[in-house]
Amino acid sequence: MNLKLKVFIFMALIAIPSIFLGKKVFRYFTFNELPKINVLGVEENKVYKDKINYEIQAISDYKIAQVKASLNNTKLEPTSFSKIGENVYQSHFEIDTKNLANEKYLLEISAQDSSFAKNKATSFMNIFVDNTPLSTALVKSEFKSEQGKTVKIELNSNKKLAQATANIFSKQFNFAQQSDNSTNYVCFIPIDCEEEVKTHLLAVDVIDLPGNNSKLVGNIEVLAAQFPKQVGFSVSQEKLMEEKQKGNPDHFLAETLVKAIAESPKEKLWKTAFDLPMNVQKITTPFGERRQTPQKGKYLHKAIDLINFPRSTVWASNDGKVIVKDRFFMSGNTIVLDHGCGIFTLYYHLDSFASDISVGDFVKKGNPIGRLGKTGYSSGYHLHWEMRINNVAVDPLQWVENKF
Ligand SMILES: [Zn+2]
Repeated sequence: MNLKLKVFIFMALIAIPSIFLGKKVFRYFTFNELPKINVLGVEENKVYKDKINYEIQAISDYKIAQVKASLNNTKLEPTSFSKIGENVYQSHFEIDTKNLANEKYLLEISAQDSSFAKNKATSFMNIFVDNTPLSTALVKSEFKSEQGKTVKIELNSNKKLAQATANIFSKQFNFAQQSDNSTNYVCFIPIDCEEEVKTHLLAVDVIDLPGNNSKLVGNIEVLAAQFPKQVGFSVSQEKLMEEKQKGNPDHFLAETLVKAIAESPKEKLWKTAFDLPMNVQKITTPFGERRQTPQKGKYLHKAIDLINFPRSTVWASNDGKVIVKDRFFMSGNTIVLDHGCGIFTLYYHLDSFASDISVGDFVKKGNPIGRLGKTGYSSGYHLHWEMRINNVAVDPLQWVENKF
């Protein structure tokens, strides 16, 4: 073999791996993408108890060298570290919160690759530890109440709750904080005018932020209400024809209210007692009056009718959100306010609406919403004022008198 050939073979032996190696070396020196971090099993601002098990996934096109975690600057040791996909590295961590004080912690997570630049991504998360057992009690657990009334149930807790629900009458009602930062919770149970007269079991399910459960029981004895009887009244055929043309079909209102319950804020939007929504000369129809009319047959009037001079001001009986401002066949010009917790007040037969209110607006107690009228199924100027809790009509006067 001549020298030239020897040199050529020698060069080739060096060059071929060098080209391959060169690519790797080039990548090692030039790779500059940050790893991506995914955290599974722990969430920002959540409250934890006992053991927290979570995974950190580091995703990078370059080999991950290490994944680190610390809690308030104290290093946490991973219990495993492995490659679980093409570019995915996963570490498992466990925090035993039993040794920690009940407070807020900063969880710092980082992932670093093994390139020359040691590209490192860091993320921070606030978490809370709470190992205090949940302790709750009903202020009162046995109630007696008439059909058509509201029962207010109070619950005391040693801490903030994630959720509390009352189960009765085959329905569920949510508790709401009595006021901001309070650990006293309230729930308003509507007793339908036609609810069965007997003692009904009340079951309350409570859950706190780290997930402790508590079950409380009580009962509500429903008493028969003596609803007064009215002979009846009628609205002329002419007026009915006219109203039918001007107003939307009534099922539109019913459907809107059913939908609105699901969207009602879970907190009380009101802070002080409900007021009557106008200056009242007289209550012409009491709550629950038994009626019979040619148009509607036999029914209970589950509201109160109030009179004053025509077109006098009608205002919001408490703070709330306008959810209906429209004209319907039976209720005429109608406003419905949502006060939170599925509690609505309804204002029927208005002559006109206040010009500065729209659906979606928040109104304050006493804000004018319209003028007293006789639109819809009405034989004279009056306000039909109704109160509903989760679409069950209850006596609104109880809310004015009892200052719920
Ligand atoms: Zn009425």
